[in-house]
Formats: sequence, structure tokens, C-alpha cells
Amino acid sequence: MAYVIVDTCTKDNLCVEACPVDCIHPKQDEPDYEAAVQLFVDPEACIDCGACIPVCPTNSIFILEELPADKADFAGKNAAYYGK
Ligand code: SF4
Repeated sequence: MAYVIVDTCTKDNLCVEACPVDCIHPKQDEPDYEAAVQLFVDPEACIDCGACIPVCPTNSIFILEELPADKADFAGKNAAYYGK
């Protein structure tokens, strides 16, 4: 299981600060930050702690099992960002 960020993400970066294992990217100092339309969770690094959920101002982060049906493809999109 991993957490998944969907396209309502506005790159507020609060989840990046909250994540204890640094598995949300791109970060503001990374080269692809400006071009990225949203942030993504590395599904293999995520420890399912849930710390990112309450800090997200747009409610854009979901537990994989609770992804809305119309956002189901974002599990793959998050993984694809990391080449997985
Ligand atoms: Fe990071 Fe925890 Fe959110 Fe996973 S659930 S992305 S480890 S803050």
C-alpha cells in the first residue's frame, strides 16, 4: 500500500515538509519542479504513516484503497514519476 497524490494538488509543499521519509517529489530545489503539474509519492518509499493527509490544503492525497474511481489512474502516475 502507498499513498497517492492526485491532480488537485497545487504544489503547496506542506506534505513534503511533513513526510518523514522524504518520498514526495519533486521538491522545490529539484530541476523538474517547475514543469511538474503536481507532486508525486514514491510508492516503494512511502511507509503509510498518513502524516501528509491532514496538512494537504486541497485534500489531494489518498490511501491507495480509497482513491476515488475517477482518480484510479493516479496510482500509476505517481509510480511512473519514479520509473516504477
Ligand atoms: Fe510520506 Fe507518510 Fe505521506 Fe507516505 S503516508 S507520502 S511516508 S507522509
